[in-house]
Amino acid sequence: MGDKRQVPAKSKIIAATRNRGKLEEIAQLLAGLPYEVISMTEAGVTGDIAENGDTFEENALIKAREVRRMTGEAVMADDSGLEVDHLGGAPGIHSARYAGEEATDEDRIRKLLTELSGVPADRRTARFICAIALILPDGREIVVKGTCEGFITTEPAGKGGFGYDPVFYVPEFGMTFAQMDEELKNSISHRGNALRKILDILSEEAEKH
Ligand code: IMP
Repeated sequence: MGDKRQVPAKSKIIAATRNRGKLEEIAQLLAGLPYEVISMTEAGVTGDIAENGDTFEENALIKAREVRRMTGEAVMADDSGLEVDHLGGAPGIHSARYAGEEATDEDRIRKLLTELSGVPADRRTARFICAIALILPDGREIVVKGTCEGFITTEPAGKGGFGYDPVFYVPEFGMTFAQMDEELKNSISHRGNALRKILDILSEEAEKH
């Protein structure tokens, strides 16, 4: 018979997302750490949280603080989007609503390609950005940022992923995000890079206790 007292209890960490895919990616990455990743729904958080900050970092922190206020648990919240240099950083924090509230991914891609029509390949530089705000069980706040550099293509290519993936080309791999399998995308993506920083921080924390 094992002594149950020697097994440390897992702390809960709420992933402030309603996206199943993101939740699973987070849970997979944190498997092996003494944290149980739960969704906002499982934590009983309902309703939308206004993201009214001016940066990805601010928006992630606004979301994390609100979920913390409602639950008192450890929280991680992200905000992400696409920055296109020729468009002065647009769509940026407005990536999800770039073509209006009711628009589809196809609408947003069409708008982006129209805005960039005639712009030569070497001036179509862009990057995906992901900020993740982490609030630890003791209330400490940490914000990390992950990026992934690429170019905007002139037409969509690939069927995988979501959002702007079919027009985001990564020269090192000669593919758009939508042409990559999930594992490759996660290994180089803005979200993967930010999540790995969070993993490092949580691993360090776990070692201290
Ligand atoms: P949010 O962080 O879930 O609010 O996402 C913001 C928006 O940025 C999404 O709706 C997408 O349009 C875009 N976006 C963020 N990450 C990605 C990605 O990995 N691929 C494609 N589009 C993305």
